[in-house]
Amino acid sequence: MDLPRIFTIRESSHRIHNPLTPDKLATLGQALHLAPGTRVLDLASGSGEMLCTWARDLKCTGTGVDISTLFTEQARARAVELGVADRVEFVHGDASGHVADEPVDLAACVGATWIGNGVAGTAELLARSLRPGGMMLMGEPYWRVTPPDEKTALACHATSVADFLPLPDLIEQFGELGYDVVQMMLSDQQDWDRYTAAQWLNMRRWLDENPDDELAPEVRAELTAEPDRYTRYLREHLGWGVFALMQR
Ligand code: SAH
Repeated sequence: MDLPRIFTIRESSHRIHNPLTPDKLATLGQALHLAPGTRVLDLASGSGEMLCTWARDLKCTGTGVDISTLFTEQARARAVELGVADRVEFVHGDASGHVADEPVDLAACVGATWIGNGVAGTAELLARSLRPGGMMLMGEPYWRVTPPDEKTALACHATSVADFLPLPDLIEQFGELGYDVVQMMLSDQQDWDRYTAAQWLNMRRWLDENPDDELAPEVRAELTAEPDRYTRYLREHLGWGVFALMQR
């Protein structure tokens, strides 16, 4: 059980595996006005940057669960580096179906709603770990500009135009699921550039160091194609945001 290696090659230098900058992550944390000691569950926690920095800056405590052994190791190392290893723990495992032993104040899934088969299922999954009156955080793509055709949607890493909604419709969906949207942090095109273009440099450096690896042809092909595909399609059409939700 692990994340395929291609992901960890692409995002080897990333602390945040989403188009969210360190500044925006910190601003979002402040905007939520979390009390010191807030208990957080982070499903698909990646390299743990949200939990570790919020534990340092906002005095949160919590647990992250992620399927990547490498990212989980990085998260544990980051906790030590930031001096919060006594406040956060990182568990290697499948987060789909993961429910906290004790209800938490904040349950998050930032950029991995496939673990609950989409937004509705992920809200249900997070709700099972949340204390009454708690807050949920969900990171999710939306159509900044709705793709004119399925080919464009595929080029945005979607399987179909129907995979995502325009932003107001996503907000409406949260309402229909019974949640108030109480905060949000959106990524703009510059943020997407930081996230995506960093993958190109990671791939190039990796190729230079691993020319004979069995994944080298795949990485080579991706690096050759991605800057064009990204600027032509994804950068224009795909938005991304983190939404804070509280049950009505
Ligand atoms: N929330 C983190 C990581 C987002 S990237 C951040 O914002 O930085 C998506 C993450 O989902 C990756 O770390 C990947 O390893 C993890 N993932 C994918 N499928 C998973 C599953 N079934 N259970 C747990 N983690 C999963």
